[in-house]
Amino acid sequence: MKAKIYRGTKEIGGTCVELTADNGKILWVDLGAPLDDKNPNIDYANNKLDALLISHPHQDHFGLMEKVGTDVPIYIGEVAFDFINATKIFIDLPLLKGNYKTIKPWQTFTIADTFKIQSFLTDHSTPESFSFIIEADGKRVFYSGDFRATGRKKIVFDKIVEAPPKNIDLLLIEGTMVERANHIYLTEESVEEGIYNILKNQKNVSFLISSAQNIDRLISIIRACKKTGKKVVIDVYTAWLLEMLHKQSSNVPTMEWDEVKVYNKPSQMEKITDKTFDEFRAKIKTNSVGASVFQSPSDFIYFVRNPSMQLVNALRKHGKINVIYSQWEGYLKEEYQQYFTDNINALKQDSDIDFHSIHTSGHAVVPDLMKFAKAINSSKITPIHTAFPEIFKKQFEENGFNNIQLWEDGIEYQI
Ligand SMILES: [Zn+2]
Ligand SMILES: [Zn+2]
Repeated sequence: MKAKIYRGTKEIGGTCVELTADNGKILWVDLGAPLDDKNPNIDYANNKLDALLISHPHQDHFGLMEKVGTDVPIYIGEVAFDFINATKIFIDLPLLKGNYKTIKPWQTFTIADTFKIQSFLTDHSTPESFSFIIEADGKRVFYSGDFRATGRKKIVFDKIVEAPPKNIDLLLIEGTMVERANHIYLTEESVEEGIYNILKNQKNVSFLISSAQNIDRLISIIRACKKTGKKVVIDVYTAWLLEMLHKQSSNVPTMEWDEVKVYNKPSQMEKITDKTFDEFRAKIKTNSVGASVFQSPSDFIYFVRNPSMQLVNALRKHGKINVIYSQWEGYLKEEYQQYFTDNINALKQDSDIDFHSIHTSGHAVVPDLMKFAKAINSSKITPIHTAFPEIFKKQFEENGFNNIQLWEDGIEYQI
């Protein structure tokens, strides 16, 4: 088997790995969109392949997936498939159409009669994210995908470190956190504590800004709400994500929980007028927040992407409003400009607002990466999904690893 990283040896974003078996079959693992415009060349996405395997529903891993056309089989998690479609529903894009084959964690299956796959669940900032073992021609590659050891699913990290898979020839491991600090919040539990400390003293409403798909973060809010008697207000999109997640696991929050209310934003309700959403719409009606936020704003925390200025203005007179920024700081910089960047930066300057940054990364810090790599004990280790491969290598070598191989984008290596 041979391997090539089309993109990701020196970059976070646009991850795509090609594995070619001796019989000529080609499997790609992830086909992400680049996260910046430094290198807009995505021509490789038109190359020939036999199948695509997606690790999780983050843009930098699936963003170019639809470029492979509707014939090539795309193996993707059930939750990932539903989450990607959920986003499409609310931004008015056609639903996924193609040869999708949904997979689950802890499964073994074969792709293109050649690649034997084992899927592992990882602890990451989306509820379903996979690592894979990909085996062909007697060689075994472990693709870590994105992972951490500090979230609400840290047990899956511990499990793999305690009982690691054997005989791995190559570990392709993410290195996001090389040269990135995790601030003062090291775990999802400490984030919960930080949110709790704000909620218990709030005199007015709080807004928490994070990705709707970061369900670990929503759970942290719900737990803080439980302890303080507050309610979290989610939007219709988030309510739909929970609905999708609930199909796979009954152990996840729903809009029917006591601590959860839904804001039935008209522009979102417009997207779910189809008959298939009848039951969901009825549930929203029952659990909607209504006007109660205007009577007692300090009882509420809004889980949002971009707080509505109209709501902020309407609630100013009740005292200081908290804005809790709870995702990567980089999005507030011009370089990684998002649709919410200007609005959030304006809120940061607003004298009626107390701005807090409370976040922990979805990615493993370097000591956890080393712990993981040590357990996997593969013949070779190649970092991917990192902006600093040289520093990755140096730090690993200082800690006794002598099998780090840095690769170049677009070059094929024999495994
Ligand atoms: Zn990710
Ligand atoms: Zn990623």
